[in-house]
Amino acid sequence: MSGRAGISETAGVADLLIRGASVLGSGGFERRDLPIVGGCVAAGPAAGAPTLDGSGLLAAPGFVDLQCNGGVGIDLAGEPERIWELAAALPQWGVTAWLPTIVTGPPEVTARAQATLAAGPPVGWLGAWPIGLHLEGPFLAPTKRGAHRPAFLCDPDPAAIAGWSPDRGVVLVTLAPELDGARTLIDALVERGVVVSLGHTEATAAEAAAAADAGARWVTHLWNAMAPLHHRAPGLAGVALTDGRLHVGLIVDGIHVHPTAVALAERALGDRLTLVTDAVSALGLPPGRHRLGTEEVTLGDGRGVRLADGTLAGSDLAMDAAVRNLRAFSGCTTARAVRAASAAPAALLDDGSRGALVPGRRGDVVLLDHDLQVVATVVGGAVVHDRRV
Ligand code: ZN
Repeated sequence: MSGRAGISETAGVADLLIRGASVLGSGGFERRDLPIVGGCVAAGPAAGAPTLDGSGLLAAPGFVDLQCNGGVGIDLAGEPERIWELAAALPQWGVTAWLPTIVTGPPEVTARAQATLAAGPPVGWLGAWPIGLHLEGPFLAPTKRGAHRPAFLCDPDPAAIAGWSPDRGVVLVTLAPELDGARTLIDALVERGVVVSLGHTEATAAEAAAAADAGARWVTHLWNAMAPLHHRAPGLAGVALTDGRLHVGLIVDGIHVHPTAVALAERALGDRLTLVTDAVSALGLPPGRHRLGTEEVTLGDGRGVRLADGTLAGSDLAMDAAVRNLRAFSGCTTARAVRAASAAPAALLDDGSRGALVPGRRGDVVLLDHDLQVVATVVGGAVVHDRRV
């Protein structure tokens, strides 16, 4: 059963037998067959099922991206109707489920994204399942807005969140807890089962801790769009690193966060670390100019995705690259890096159907070579990507 997802899942109910992979279990990777029956990992053999060769490969739970604004030329801030199209592209990077993320903009964009999810996928669609929306804004600190459009930032307003709930496709909201009226919104969203995240904020340590007391459970892209860690003013970053109630998103592209700060976060956070891409339309595209909302961004020269004034505007980071970078920057084990992209985000969402390859969970699997490059991706037992064919 899927915890917070309000949209009933219709894709991927196939049988499959993945042969001879090293399958990630609670004790690490173990070489065995992985049967999938009716879309779910099975305890027994998948009689008569098609087979997928996993020999020499690692089999990990499919990646879950909690923050993805776009990719392959699609910008959800301007084209929320293309959620399913973007979702179909994400398995090439090992992603099997995700939260389409809508940045600060006109409220009608959110409504259009909700309608797109509610309509369900096109006939015959296969791809990474959009569990529900991540709404990043508009209740953000103007001084920490990053690439968010200032004209649409606003103070917390209970009327503005009237339609925000898991059964209307909203599962996660990023807000700045220090804004006047934020506590009322946190209470309302938590009551509805929406995950509240703290981000784009000037929050002090006390304000961050108070928000966690109120039920906030995630921190949006640690280190970015918040005060830096100071030993006499630890702020949200300090609380994120030390408060066991908070899971923490991190953009590990080597640009948003220095590798040393990644290593520090990995050691402090352990299982609370959730990798995100924060990808924009530039993901999967060649260097050049691309759109993000109404802004033009430039991709290239190793500096990431930037507005004309140099402000970072999301990333072109793919989830498998984030996993590789986390292992390289922090020296953590492969199992730990993979879990930061799978088990950890599933745990944040209370999603008991994903995040582990044990009987009864969804047959969402990514097959990786030992360099952690994606070889094949399986969603609900259906092979949706295989670079070998
Ligand atoms: Zn952001």
